[in-house]
Amino acid sequence: MVEARRIGIVGAGLGGTAAAGLLQRAGFEVTLYDQAPAFSRLGAGIQYGPNVMKIMRRLGIEQAIEDASSHPDYWFSRKWDDGAYQSRIPLNAEHARYGATYITIHRGDVHSIMIGAVPPDLVRFGKKLVDFQERANDVLLSFEDGTTDVVDVLVGADGINSRVREKLLGPEAPLFTGWVAHRGVLPMARLSGLEVEPCVKWWSADRHMMAYALDGTREEFYFVTGEPAESWPAGVPWVPSTREAMRESFKGYHELVQAYIDVADTITKWPLYTRNPLPLWHAGRVVLLGDACHPMKPHMAQGAAMAIEDAAMLTRCMTELGTRDLSRTFEAYRAHRIERASRVQQVSNANTWLRNQEDPYWVYGYDIYDVDLTA
Ligand code: FAD
Repeated sequence: MVEARRIGIVGAGLGGTAAAGLLQRAGFEVTLYDQAPAFSRLGAGIQYGPNVMKIMRRLGIEQAIEDASSHPDYWFSRKWDDGAYQSRIPLNAEHARYGATYITIHRGDVHSIMIGAVPPDLVRFGKKLVDFQERANDVLLSFEDGTTDVVDVLVGADGINSRVREKLLGPEAPLFTGWVAHRGVLPMARLSGLEVEPCVKWWSADRHMMAYALDGTREEFYFVTGEPAESWPAGVPWVPSTREAMRESFKGYHELVQAYIDVADTITKWPLYTRNPLPLWHAGRVVLLGDACHPMKPHMAQGAAMAIEDAAMLTRCMTELGTRDLSRTFEAYRAHRIERASRVQQVSNANTWLRNQEDPYWVYGYDIYDVDLTA
């Protein structure tokens, strides 16, 4: 097989964007496609651990992300009613040990900085992949607008409802986890006079609320919850919700939680989906990463992190092992990712992360560039 140089990445989410930036810097001819008509500042909060920031360093955007984010020293876990501390996990308080900063930020802000690290002429918006066909020496991509493109390798970074996954494995709806998440953003000024920690998770037996600052000046604050729910209507991505619904769900919770709810501007409610582990991560010239491959409940704040680590490992394998023997290269990628991604998926789904005092070094101290590919 000849070297594969033209890489088509479908999905300009956090994983696909990281892959585009890293592969382009490694010398590949990259095209990044997304169905969205244009980039927009979507979502609300996201946390990047030092494991991700080490990859942002390679993209040259570590400083820009640090400048736009909040850097909490600790993650606090607190009991839902009396606020008793269950854990006090050092984040930036152990910066030197982890090797990079722990940040919390508006998802749209970090996505915009990451997109900015990809040359604009490589990004094609308004390109919804509807089909692809692997041929002897390339892959033919077909888009909803009737256009086609030819690449040597197709990277499916198209999220939990991945069309690429569906073509490889057949249609299968993701599994509703029985959990939903309320999300809300609030101006920090409305909490003045209260002792608000910049990164805190409130826990009771069957639900929780994670709350953190979205920027360095801590002007915006954000919460995201996890709550049980019997069902969710198929095909509905999210619904608007209300302070009243949240007060009902978090009845008896600590006064600080009540204060966040009381001043939240826009409250939305989201279903949480997952999938069983996939039997394959790659086939022929096609390879999957991120939520297309291993979606998880968001309770460990590491879903995007795993997508971005995948992107970094895929780039390393394609660069260091070459692209003549794609099956060997993609198998090495899978082998170096599956154990860690599955462990994170398991802990996320169990929702136990940092609830009690523990050492998070295996997640935050990890440096994907230290992994020995020959091992
Ligand atoms: P996505 O971000 O879903 O991107 C997929 C992209 O593919 C989209 O841009 C979509 O438009 C595009 N696409 C889809 N189909 C097609 C098609 N057919 N053709 C072209 N384009 C297509 N993770 C963290 O690391 N930290 C957190 O703090 C965190 N908090 C979270 C909070 C909540 C409530 C939720 C639900 C998730 C959270 N996550 C967090 C998880 C994280 O959001 C996901 O794991 C991450 O976004 C996955 O990235 P991805 O690039 O694989 O997919």
